[in-house]
Amino acid sequence: MLTILATLFAIIGWQPALATAIEAVTVTPERVTVQFDDYVENASAFVLDDPSRIAIDIAGARAGNNSRGGGAVDSVRQGQYSPGTARIVLDLSRPVVFDNGRFAEDGRSFVLDLRPASRIAFASAAGAGRASFFPPMALRARLQGRGGLSVPLPRATPADQRALPTVRGPRGRPLVVIDAGHGGHDPGAISPFGQLREKDATLAIARALRDRLLESGRVRVALTREDDRFLILQERYEIARRLGAELFVSVHIDSAENPEAHGATVYTLSEVASDRDSARLARRENAADIINGVNLGGQDDDVRSILIDLTRRETMNISSRFVETFWRQANGALPFRDDYHRFAGFAVLKAPDTPSILFEAGYLTNRDDARRVFSRDGQSAIADGMARAIETHFARRIAAASP
Ligand code: ZN
Repeated sequence: MLTILATLFAIIGWQPALATAIEAVTVTPERVTVQFDDYVENASAFVLDDPSRIAIDIAGARAGNNSRGGGAVDSVRQGQYSPGTARIVLDLSRPVVFDNGRFAEDGRSFVLDLRPASRIAFASAAGAGRASFFPPMALRARLQGRGGLSVPLPRATPADQRALPTVRGPRGRPLVVIDAGHGGHDPGAISPFGQLREKDATLAIARALRDRLLESGRVRVALTREDDRFLILQERYEIARRLGAELFVSVHIDSAENPEAHGATVYTLSEVASDRDSARLARRENAADIINGVNLGGQDDDVRSILIDLTRRETMNISSRFVETFWRQANGALPFRDDYHRFAGFAVLKAPDTPSILFEAGYLTNRDDARRVFSRDGQSAIADGMARAIETHFARRIAAASP
């Protein structure tokens, strides 16, 4: 028992220390070389499209400074992806893919070969996922002897093993997952009227909606976050999928250059954005995953491949029908935009089997809207309209399903 404890402490003690730093990243047209000042655990790499990038994760290392590129690599950015892993992002000016990753014999450097690729080869590499590389066996044994690495215990809890949020409400009822946009170090949009933060309004609205739904007891409810914390977009819809949600509602507040822009909009997923503003908004919301220039979302789902899937199509139809129900139930109580139903490729809506909507409750850049979404009255009006829509939506589906 003592031995186990000692081992555990050795691991826990080692983890936050992370003595190893990335000393240099050198890029030539043929390869990228990463040098460390001590041993690391492993390296893995993957290709990201749109924009074209190669990401290299170094487990057991601290991120160093950004550096110059070379060849097809425009720039080299670094960030701490998680406490135990540094991420290096290579921004590409033309498509190159990687090959043949290897550690030096002494484990102090990692080399990845680069080679030019066609657009098609690049896109398929982007869909191929992650390749992992390990230092020589002898070195790993030595690291283990040092009391730290290679012990088969998870270093960080992956998203799919994290505790799921609490589900509330009567057993057997359909489940709605409400997602308060942004949170933690990501404030979302900031209002020019009193520095109000989007993340605070989204959480207040999510809570109001949950309470309103639990009051009438016709559905079960879970929130992706119940406090001020950061979740990546993928985690948000993964929560809905893993809980078996029948509806996913992501709450946001929009912003625009034009202070006159106001009103609520509901977005559903589409391969093609309905207009330029929607495309821009999707890019901005999707960028929540990119912190310090590091994409935390991992690989981008290819919406196109999913779109041909019939499940996805049915899901999108249900999502669109919900938008119409919402408009009919809440129009009047809520100021909707004339074009209240718009489409774009939001990352948070990409769960293929969960009907999902992204609700922009108003504009933080409009004085009346800002006041409305931050006031208790405004929030409860939103919660009430949305709750009526959710209850009608499920009542109709249950009626349609019964003989
Ligand atoms: Zn937002």
